Order: sequence, then structure tokens, then C-alpha cells
Amino acid sequence: MDEILKVEHLKKHLTKKGLFGSKSNTVRATDDISFSLKKGEVFVLAGESGSGKSTIAKLILKSIQPDSGKIFFEGQEINNERENLAKIRMNCQMIHQDPYDSINPRMRIGGIVSEPLEIHNIGNKEDRKKRVIEVLHEVKLEPAEEIIKKYPHMLSGGQRQRVVLARALSLKPKIILADEPVSMLDVSIRAEMLELMHELQKKYTISFIYITHDLATARYFGQKIAILYMGKIVETGPINQVLLKPKHPYTQ
Ligand code: ADP
Ligand code: MG
Repeated sequence: MDEILKVEHLKKHLTKKGLFGSKSNTVRATDDISFSLKKGEVFVLAGESGSGKSTIAKLILKSIQPDSGKIFFEGQEINNERENLAKIRMNCQMIHQDPYDSINPRMRIGGIVSEPLEIHNIGNKEDRKKRVIEVLHEVKLEPAEEIIKKYPHMLSGGQRQRVVLARALSLKPKIILADEPVSMLDVSIRAEMLELMHELQKKYTISFIYITHDLATARYFGQKIAILYMGKIVETGPINQVLLKPKHPYTQ
């Protein structure tokens, strides 16, 4: 089967509380979103800040519930049953914009990277350590045997984001959801990180949902793109077609 993930008519309204007693208002954060992701494909979700990109990521991982709509992983609808949820959470890993959102500053790197393996009960202690060293090599954090003993604050921003990537890879996921993975990094090391993700994506045929507001990196990394504007997809298609001949005013 070619299609790995499918999202159908997803809707989520969020209520923003008004400040100092002013009226609260409802935001259509996700407004009838449908798309599908093929095996090994990089699908870019692009849009300005507040357009609803992160909300879609949270809906896919079921960290929030949609008002309506469906999500299918390998043809099976994701519901809220335990086994079913575990399947998507094992196979679909998230990389956040801010490494500190997903790594505990009080844990050593070894513990951080092996945590998903522990949560999902994979292997024994020895197996897990072996896998941790292996993925640290994959993301080029060397010497891996030294890195596992360190704490996050002892690493640079770029190294910390590699730890997040290693953690995401530890379970050999079929999908990686990368939510603005390089936007907090120094411009000078962004290309390096993108190159590494691109290399691993191809090596392991991982499907990617790459979330960004930066169309230049989108073109480097992606094959298909959807442009989000106020919770709706306003334009979608092969990346060169959309970016070279944009139809929607926002994309232009
Ligand atoms: P993006 O990731 O593209 O910047 P988000 O998905 O974070 O956009 O947000 C989409 C819209 O939903 C924005 O208007 C944002 O303010 C609103 N929003 C996001 N999270 C919440 C929340 N927990 N409660 C209320 N409104 C929210
Ligand atoms: Mg966001």
C-alpha cells in the first residue's frame, strides 16, 4: 500500500479567552483539512504563524481531539482505543520547534533517547543502550559513548536538536512530524540539520510531514506542499508547481 497517512475533513475550533474580561472568541484553528501522505514522501505544511500548522500536528498525534473528521494510518482509522493509539504514537514521531519542549533538562542524553523505547517496552536494558548508541551515530553526535552521559545544557542548540532527532528515530518510525524543526537554530547551522534529516529520510524511506513558514527550506526538502491560511488549505500540489506558479494571493 502506497498511502501511509490520510486525514479527512478534520475540524477543530479553539476558544481564545479574552484578556481582562473582554469577550472570548472562537478560532477555526483547523477548518476542514484533508490530505494524504505516501510512503517515503515529504509533505510540507506551510503557512504563516497562527495559520493552524501545529494544531494539525497535535490532532494527528491525538494529543488533542478533533471536533469532527477522521485520521487513517496504514488504512486503519485512528480511534481512541489503547492499542490503536499506541500504534500511531510508535510509528509517528514528533520533532518540536524548541528542543526543550521534548527533552527533560534533568535527564542525561542516554536516558532521553532511550525513553520512547522504555515507554513502549522495547528490548532489555542492553538492547536499548545499543540502539541509543546506534541512533546517536546516525545523527552524528560523537563520541556517542561520551554524549550519553551528558546533560542537555552541556550541548549546543544544534546538538540538542540532534538529540531530539535521535529520540524520534529510536523507535524506527514510519512517519516523522517535524514542526518547524530548525526555526530556533542559528541560521548558520540550519542547512546542516536539514541536510541530516533529508539524508536519514531517504536512507530509511521515512515519510515526513515538514511544518514550516519558510518556503525556501520547503523546496529543498519537500515533494508536495499544502499552503495553510486561517486553518484552511488554500493551495496544494507538487512543490515546484505551487511555488513557481502560485495561484492563491497568500502564496504569491
Ligand atoms: P501555527 O502552528 O501555524 O502557528 P497554531 O496551530 O498554533 O498555528 O494556532 C492556530 C490558531 O489557533 C491560532 O489563532 C492560535 O492562536 C489558536 N490556538 C492555538 N492553540 C490554542 C489553544 N490552546 N487555545 C486557544 N487557541 C489556540
Ligand atoms: Mg506552530
